[in-house]
Amino acid sequence: MPVFDADYLHRVAYHIYRAKGVSQEEAEIVATHQVKANLVGHDSHGVIHIIDYTGRIDRGHIVPGAPFEVVSETPATAVINGNWGFGFVVTERAMRMAIEKARVNGVAAITVHYQSHIGRLGDYPTMAANEGMIGMITADSGAGPKSVAPFGGRARRLGTNPICMGVPSDLEGTVLLDMASSAVAAGKIGLARNRGEQVPPGWLIDKDGNPTTDPDDYREGGAILPVGADQGHKGYGLSFMVETLSALLTGLGFGIDPQARHNDGVFIAVFNVEHFRPLDVFKQEVKEFAEFIKTSPPAAGFTEVLYPGEPEFRTEQARRRDGIFVEDATWEEITGLMKELGVGEAVGQP
Ligand code: NAD
Repeated sequence: MPVFDADYLHRVAYHIYRAKGVSQEEAEIVATHQVKANLVGHDSHGVIHIIDYTGRIDRGHIVPGAPFEVVSETPATAVINGNWGFGFVVTERAMRMAIEKARVNGVAAITVHYQSHIGRLGDYPTMAANEGMIGMITADSGAGPKSVAPFGGRARRLGTNPICMGVPSDLEGTVLLDMASSAVAAGKIGLARNRGEQVPPGWLIDKDGNPTTDPDDYREGGAILPVGADQGHKGYGLSFMVETLSALLTGLGFGIDPQARHNDGVFIAVFNVEHFRPLDVFKQEVKEFAEFIKTSPPAAGFTEVLYPGEPEFRTEQARRRDGIFVEDATWEEITGLMKELGVGEAVGQP
């Protein structure tokens, strides 16, 4: 399997999007988010999506350069219509807007609708954490295709409905809870299939509701389970609330519309720490809190306790040093597209 450094994969993504008519600014934003997902270890949201996104551009489902439309606004809130722009571009801008509102008002909440996939959520609350604020984001695809069965059911009724919160601290990495409310992000099923691997027990049921580890069963009418295994009612409840914020509060709606184009409805909230406690004291306390938690002796099968976001922080350090591996099936598709678009020379050598 080929291994590449992050700069090379960034050039690959950037030049492919440029060849598809995307502006320099937007191509830069999209490539940066995608490669960052690979860097922190979430390959399911990395360059594997290049083929998918370029296909959506071809079908008019992603509209590069789409206007960022402020539908309504108050000092602490806004409703944004992304007009089917790249989710990365629209949501990054919406998060910047929320940060500026919270800088003045202490809190801010923004909804976003009509945009494409926002990828790995972790990047957006990290923007708030870097500004001394607590950032939160939830996402859902409205009436888009479903992947997750509700607790006690076997048919797909929910998305993987992720939620993410980032917190500023004096730790080296960002304290970041970034999770699907399903047992796993849907992309990881496709990744397992591309890698010819089985998935762990507890991720999937087949079309008849039986537990399975075969990723092909998902394609054939199965469903992903809510997070929590036998306590799946909690993951299901979390998913319900994520969808309430990201699909109902945004006005996207719910249900299943097979014609719906991919649409990440987003709810953003930002809390400016300085409006509650001195930022330097809070950041120090979050660090001490994480260090206290980590003093727990490891349980059987573990070597240490990590804080949320620490696995991604460590993976990024390792991958910046050792490179990012891309599975053969994904790389073949990407190199095929590079050839088709004639961008090999612009991309240069790995
Ligand atoms: P995951 O299960 O790998 O991690 C979830 C969280 O648990 C992370 O915050 C991680 O830091 C933390 N964590 C993991 N191992 C830990 C450990 N040993 N100790 C302490 N904390 C630990 O993530 P996931 O649920 O598979 O989601 C993967 C990615 O998929 C996320 O980045 C998410 O944003 C993305 N996603 C996006 C969409 C979308 O529509 N845009 C949908 C679903 C998921």
